[in-house]
Amino acid sequence: MSRYVIEVAYLLSTALFILSLHWMSDPKTARRGVHGGVAAMLVAVLATWGKPEVVNHLWVIIPIALAIIPGVWLSMVPLTAVPQRTALSHAFGGLAAGLVGTAKYFYWISHEPEMLTAFRMTAIILEVILGYLTLTGSLIAAGKLQEVKWIPQRPWVYKGQNFVNFSAFGLAIILGTVLVCAPSMSFLSPFLFVVIILMSLAFGGMLVLPIGGADMPTVISILNSYAGLSAVAMGFVLDNKLLITAGALDGSSGLILSIIMCKAMNRSFFNVLFGAFGQVQQKKAEGEQQSYKPETVEGAAQIIEQASMVVIVPGYGMAVAQAQHKVRELYDQLKKRGIACKFAIHPVAGRMPGHMNVLLAEAEIPYDDLVEMDSINPDMPQADVCLVLGANDVVNPAARHDKGSPIYGMPIIDADRAKAVFAIKRSKNPGFAGIDNELYFMDKTFMLFGDAKAVVGELVKQLSGSGMH
Ligand code: NDP
Repeated sequence: MSRYVIEVAYLLSTALFILSLHWMSDPKTARRGVHGGVAAMLVAVLATWGKPEVVNHLWVIIPIALAIIPGVWLSMVPLTAVPQRTALSHAFGGLAAGLVGTAKYFYWISHEPEMLTAFRMTAIILEVILGYLTLTGSLIAAGKLQEVKWIPQRPWVYKGQNFVNFSAFGLAIILGTVLVCAPSMSFLSPFLFVVIILMSLAFGGMLVLPIGGADMPTVISILNSYAGLSAVAMGFVLDNKLLITAGALDGSSGLILSIIMCKAMNRSFFNVLFGAFGQVQQKKAEGEQQSYKPETVEGAAQIIEQASMVVIVPGYGMAVAQAQHKVRELYDQLKKRGIACKFAIHPVAGRMPGHMNVLLAEAEIPYDDLVEMDSINPDMPQADVCLVLGANDVVNPAARHDKGSPIYGMPIIDADRAKAVFAIKRSKNPGFAGIDNELYFMDKTFMLFGDAKAVVGELVKQLSGSGMH
């Protein structure tokens, strides 16, 4: 393939990557976005394969054939496992960047030491540090989310931990600087390079171990941006413009997503990375015990029947119960009775961005009835019934006024402003933040204890008439 054709293909691929991100920002065009991204990657791989430097095609065919096996396996995981699947993809990305940087260093130092200019060496060091720390950090994140037995789910903390972690990172940076100044000064240089790899691997794992399992989606998104940045560095090492632009898109989108998630949780980056959030919270003092008002499904159905507007607030519990298809049946029943039904979507409901949108879209609930938090909140006082479905922190009014609460300042869905509230959950256990929810103790709130799928199924039965008297 001529150089000219390859450059044009790279340009086309870059444009497709940008369009793909643009399309993915709206559920209506998200599918097109995925196809656009796949097409961009295909063009990129074919154009690179067509380069005149590729003399032995087996070196391209064999890795592609081998990569198909984990690729197909990863594509078949259930929707609830998507966060850990994403972490594994980042781990592979980090490993690829790390290996390319390592191979280039050892090749150049033994064959063409003059190629190791200060600029290239800086790019190699950045690529290797970011690549390997992304590898181990992402593996630990995936393990925590998958609840692998030998990886602690709770934050794993000890005294002086940040000092130990940053000593490893600092050592990698110092040795990296030494190599940038003198890439092949002595027989010790390759040894220093290996120490940098080991420190980066150790730092990645140690960075993620103190973070609670439930904070992992934010961490994964941060690791996504590290993987992107390591690809940018790899682009400079290989002198490949497409890797630089695609890596920059990856790095910046990961960073923007992390910022959106932190903002929606009212947390800072620093707090997510070093706050060890998710440690067991102190129990509230006895005497502050408040009581729940349990309600029967029949009683709830009778009130819902009378409503003219119902707002459903889905949360992590809906995902755990896989209740989305039953929720669709409930939605159909309400619509059939002429009751307006909207879904209030909190930006961090569930455990990954867009979690609720994806589940509800899977159940083919019309996008127009999924309303973002800021748009639905002004309408909440008009809602006759708010059905809180396996959501907890995202409707906790303590976020507005309780300065001592870990969720203080997090914007919430104003479920407490609806005329009546029914909350479906299995027990009195708290949600992700580990705190009681004031909403559940309000006069207007009634609890429907049980698994979300089962309770919603019962509600549908009642409303469809088969359970009504
Ligand atoms: P929460 O984790 O606060 O609460 C979920 C509730 O669902 C629990 O109270 C649980 O109660 C209930 N539940 C669990 N399983 C079931 C089931 N099978 N049937 C019925 N109920 C069930 O979830 P929210 O969605 O309200 O809030 C998300 C939290 O996650 C926020 O604190 C957010 O900051 C955090 N987070 C979100 C991220 C994201 O990207 N979305 C990323 C990182 C963190 P019980 O056990 O009694 O059933």
